[in-house]
Amino acid sequence: MLSKTALEKLNIFSDEDFLHHYPFRYEDLTNAVSGIIVSSRNLYTRSGKTIQKIIVQTPAGNQELTWFNQPYLINTFLPGKKISFSGNNYELITGGELIHTGRLVPVYPETKGISSKALRRRIYNLLRTVKLEDWLPEKIKQKNNLIDLNSALQQIHFPKNQAQINTATKRLSFDELFLLQLKAIEHQKAWKEKKLSHQLQLDQEKILNLIASLPFSLTQAQNLCLKQILSDLEKNQPMNRLLQGEVGSGKTVIAAIAMYVSYLNGFKSVLMTPTEILAQQHFRTLKSVFTNTPIKIGLVTKSVKNDGDILVGTHALLFRKIKEQLGLIVIDEQHRFGVKQRSQLISQTKTTPHLLTMTATPIPRTVALTVYSDLDFSILDEMPSGRKVVKTWVVPPEKRLSAYRWIESQIKTYQTQAFIVCPLIDPSEKETMQDIKAVTQEFNQLKSIFNQLKLGLIHGRLKSKDKNTILEEFRKNKINILVATPVIEVGIDFPNATVMIIENAERFGLAQLHQLRGRVGRSEKKSYCLIFSSNRSAIKRLKYLETNCSGLKLAELDLKLRGPGDLYGLKQHGFLQLKLASLTDINLINLSRQAALDCQPLTWLLKKQLEKHKIKLCLHYQKEKFLPAVKANAERPLN
Ligand code: ADP
Ligand code: MG
Repeated sequence: MLSKTALEKLNIFSDEDFLHHYPFRYEDLTNAVSGIIVSSRNLYTRSGKTIQKIIVQTPAGNQELTWFNQPYLINTFLPGKKISFSGNNYELITGGELIHTGRLVPVYPETKGISSKALRRRIYNLLRTVKLEDWLPEKIKQKNNLIDLNSALQQIHFPKNQAQINTATKRLSFDELFLLQLKAIEHQKAWKEKKLSHQLQLDQEKILNLIASLPFSLTQAQNLCLKQILSDLEKNQPMNRLLQGEVGSGKTVIAAIAMYVSYLNGFKSVLMTPTEILAQQHFRTLKSVFTNTPIKIGLVTKSVKNDGDILVGTHALLFRKIKEQLGLIVIDEQHRFGVKQRSQLISQTKTTPHLLTMTATPIPRTVALTVYSDLDFSILDEMPSGRKVVKTWVVPPEKRLSAYRWIESQIKTYQTQAFIVCPLIDPSEKETMQDIKAVTQEFNQLKSIFNQLKLGLIHGRLKSKDKNTILEEFRKNKINILVATPVIEVGIDFPNATVMIIENAERFGLAQLHQLRGRVGRSEKKSYCLIFSSNRSAIKRLKYLETNCSGLKLAELDLKLRGPGDLYGLKQHGFLQLKLASLTDINLINLSRQAALDCQPLTWLLKKQLEKHKIKLCLHYQKEKFLPAVKANAERPLN
């Protein structure tokens, strides 16, 4: 009997869930041996253990099979019975189909108390008794060459050959992507049905004047993104656009211009950031962008609560009643916020202001087409000129000391500064006390290594006053090396810092490392990134950073090499629900997208399926049991 609580760990609550609990690999046991049991007996060792020995007569002669501490086996393996065995798997031949041997044998994600063998038996029985309603419309199956649901389930669990696995995987992957697309279309529709708070008008002349007053001219990419955003702002539907661009690609000024439009129309804007430091930085930037205008910029954090035409702040903004006058909301690094916080900000008002989210996290095209397909995209794929490629080295353990000496000489010779980033222990991206302890310890060691330099330590648990003091000292070059946790800053701008050192780099995805590297290379001086890892098996992966300087390419590599786990911020979107589908399969993604569009408006059956899918997602989130699915996905060989 399979325990209910254990099954829930595998997200199995019903017969249907059993059928959708897919194997993550197959053992090829087609060459099993069969024979007749000649004798079987229990042997007892001196330490009180038992050994089971049976002798089987096979066409190739007698063979002895041995088990340990399973005395009950002897009651099953009675002389005269037929048995099939291969590797560690065995089963009695009873005239029915073999399921544990003599075939491609499915191996399942397991949990304590539930073995693959038990799952296999149960699923086999269910496949013979339960037929699921095939909810995918016939014309979609035909158009995309997909087999029916029950055949797919039969074949994914008990395939006769690799070809059956392939056709089943295609159908079931399609289902996953298709449902994701249906959900995205639903979101998009719901958003479009929202009533816009205030329609804005564009005063071309004033906008151009502001742009002309900037100390630089906009890049082509900035101009293009700005055009897309401005054209959204003019519409009478609320904008829902994601502005994606690498660190340093110049997103802030785009947001500033959009907020200027709102101001010119007599409305307020808010710019929400994940940290106080970023809020302060944006506050300074906006003040300089708007020096020649009467715009008032207000800072809103835990400690400061100013008013203004444009409010910049942390989620402290959520508690401000801004209401009717709001024309535009900008959210920076949106993946750092929960979905709840985001909708809290938006639903302050009965109607919806325009919404612009910004991220430096590169999003592979396939992911944009699935997980984010309810958003409009603008991509800044060009850096302002003058940006230098950051020379990058992966430093093996034996070169660590000489690397430290090199860093020291750089700092002394060129008066430059360095960051040392220590990763978090807990991959949840939330700093824990344990992390603080680790980084503090590291800091003390580094102080003795660099005993002729001034070091500063900064992490999320510092009081904001102390953080500011340290950053101010760093800005004034009174601190040579700033030791930090990665949460500490996504977007801080210190042009004099030219060396980035990342410790235990194997804990990061490539795209994230690339983002950290983007902290340097912000001036005329040559910049360097040193990637430390004592994990030799990670070095090959990390080496991609030496030759690759496109965040998007690196994110795509992450997706391929480590699965979607590194694409942070995606958890909220239900991508972890994907058990079979690959977020790199552009072909199937496109087909599922088209199919989802073709199915509008949804039939009753599709609506029902979508609701079921959503309930399932809620269960996942409430119980936070996404991990088994991720693991299974990570182990799945890439196709
Ligand atoms: P991010 O996209 O990471 O938020 P920022 O908006 O902080 O980037 O811009 C990084 C730096 O580049 C800022 O100092 C900004 O003033 C500058 N910048 C932005 N656009 C341009 C441009 N077109 N030419 C030169 N410098 C620019
Ligand atoms: Mg930024």
